[in-house]
Amino acid sequence: MTAPGQIVIHDVPRPAIQDHQILLRTRRIGVCGSDIHVWHGRHPYTGYPIVQGHEVSGIVAEVGRAVTGFTVGDPVTFMPQVTCGQCYPCQHGMEHICESLKVMGFQTNGAAQEYFPLDADKALKLPAGLTLDQGAMIEPISVAVHALRRGGGAAGKRVLVLGAGTIGNLTAQVARASGALDVMITDINDYRLALARRCGLEHVINTQDEELMAAIRRDFGLERADLILECVGVEATISQAIACARKGTTIVVVGVFGEKPRVDLGLVQDRELSLVGTLMYQRQDYEQAIALASSGKLQLEPLISDRFPFDRYTDAYRRIEEAAGRTMKVMIELD
Ligand SMILES: [Zn+2]
Ligand SMILES: [Zn+2]
Repeated sequence: MTAPGQIVIHDVPRPAIQDHQILLRTRRIGVCGSDIHVWHGRHPYTGYPIVQGHEVSGIVAEVGRAVTGFTVGDPVTFMPQVTCGQCYPCQHGMEHICESLKVMGFQTNGAAQEYFPLDADKALKLPAGLTLDQGAMIEPISVAVHALRRGGGAAGKRVLVLGAGTIGNLTAQVARASGALDVMITDINDYRLALARRCGLEHVINTQDEELMAAIRRDFGLERADLILECVGVEATISQAIACARKGTTIVVVGVFGEKPRVDLGLVQDRELSLVGTLMYQRQDYEQAIALASSGKLQLEPLISDRFPFDRYTDAYRRIEEAAGRTMKVMIELD
């Protein structure tokens, strides 16, 4: 992407790898909301030109001399974080919130190219039985896994997820697959809500048609939700989360806020609510996401709404613009 709305595809020499790297032959690239912000020139931390592609699966095409554990032909995905290793979070096992975190596809080049040189320590093998499509969805699944972990886990809890986009849907599905007692998901977009039902989620609420608190009491009972995850990033939903929370509840803030919301912190104080942020994921989240996807407990296929070949990357973005609110995961395919 050379400028907002400008994608140029051209030939370059096959990249050489360093000893600690593998060469990835890219096969699938998922497009997500952050990519679209870059396309619209509204991503605050991305400059141009940039090669996008951070939700990726591919095949190992070459292995560096110092790399062990990978063989040519292995299907892999990777963690797109580039970290400094020096700052306080990096020194304390929290590389994912590195003070100078860079993400491939945003601040360094991503994998939207036929061959992508990749540090081997960022790559994870995809077990047999996992498809390339599923492999490219490990990244967003890991976002959900990490968010639930930040909330203290889903097991045995009534989990309320606000927002049924890709991340909200996956968060609800991961909660269910991780032993949640019950899961409710909300949105105001009927397409997304229908998809949530297709994925087998039971309590699917359109908050324009139904009062949320009443739905919570009906489906969860008087104890309401034990854990709430805001997966939209707007004032209305974070306010709903705070208003509906039982005393002492944890609310995980997953949504990315474009504008500063006005929220009732008085309720956060008075009800001893915990507002917890979540950014990306750590290696253990990737490993858990791979295990969950392999277990067959996640319905991933319904989330892929559109497919485009690599040379029609621009059409993929136009489709997302034109079908506003009626696309979910758009998948770019390479042979
Ligand atoms: Zn993404
Ligand atoms: Zn760091």
